[in-house]
Amino acid sequence: MGDLRFDGRVVVVTGAGAGLGRAYALLFASRGAKVVVNDLGGGRHGDGSSSKAADSVVEEIKRNGGSAVADYNSVVEGDKIVKTAIDNFGRIDVLVNNAGILRDKSLVNISDQDWDLVHAVHLKGSFKTTQAAFPYFKKQKYGRVIMTSSNAGIYGNFGQANYSAAKMGLVGLASTIAIEGNKYNTFCNVIVPTAASRLTEDILPPDLYNELRPELIAPVVAYLCHESCQENGSIIESAAGWAGRCAIIRANGSLLRSRIADDVSVENVRDRWTKITDVSDSQILGTIQDATGALMASLEGLKSGD
Ligand code: NAD
Repeated sequence: MGDLRFDGRVVVVTGAGAGLGRAYALLFASRGAKVVVNDLGGGRHGDGSSSKAADSVVEEIKRNGGSAVADYNSVVEGDKIVKTAIDNFGRIDVLVNNAGILRDKSLVNISDQDWDLVHAVHLKGSFKTTQAAFPYFKKQKYGRVIMTSSNAGIYGNFGQANYSAAKMGLVGLASTIAIEGNKYNTFCNVIVPTAASRLTEDILPPDLYNELRPELIAPVVAYLCHESCQENGSIIESAAGWAGRCAIIRANGSLLRSRIADDVSVENVRDRWTKITDVSDSQILGTIQDATGALMASLEGLKSGD
């Protein structure tokens, strides 16, 4: 099996002027892709803008013999970023939605602006950019999309309610795009990274920080975006040279009544709570049809027990 290359492919990486995005852009370019290095070059709280961040990564790629162009738009105007790819390279094959900011506050201190800005960059930005790229993917029957979530979204993290909500929203967005894109060979997966960057420099313990180079995650993202990779709709966690799939599980649960004619009382729920919450015999339900099917099976079980 040969090297995995991206020759002839056009890859857009948002927020590629630093941190993880920079590592992704450098890797894609080193494997032959033409890269749109998007970054509005603002502060970590979404303040300000500068062309420097994107320019320096483009220069680095060109110095290494690769091909890249800078784009300074905010992901909130994702259609403009996709236009940069089309205007400069004539196509788009891969979109890595990576741009991000933090406005950490405990729940009661989150202002509307803290909420709206975090949602705008992470959730709306990923939606706008993917929506603009999707018609190209559909037409050419090929596309790869990455959404960037976070353990803060999946498990919660003190002081990050706005960020957690947006990051988990991206999981839902990815799940539906995976379904809508599937018949057009357009796959969408979620990366859950943990890496040393300016977003984490005061969050991660110093010892761990040094072990968490973004370059250790970039190959996982690149593989997910390769044409040979058939993964679709998955959440992949990665850090420190490790990767593993993360999945939502559902307990087998419990019927809350014994006959179809019965109602359900609050006490029925209390009495079965251990069984309802016991995940020792759980399943991964891959699709909404699986979830509905499991529900129908419970109902059938009730009816036949009547
Ligand atoms: P980073 O701050 O180094 O990089 C993010 C980049 O996004 C910055 O260069 C910034 O200028 C750019 N950006 C911000 N708002 C933008 C906008 N509106 N339009 C275009 N570009 C914009 O941070 P990072 O740690 O590399 O984070 C990358 C992504 O990974 C983010 O989505 C972040 O939430 C996510 N993430 C990171 C970690 C981690 O451990 N570093 C953990 C979980 C999730």
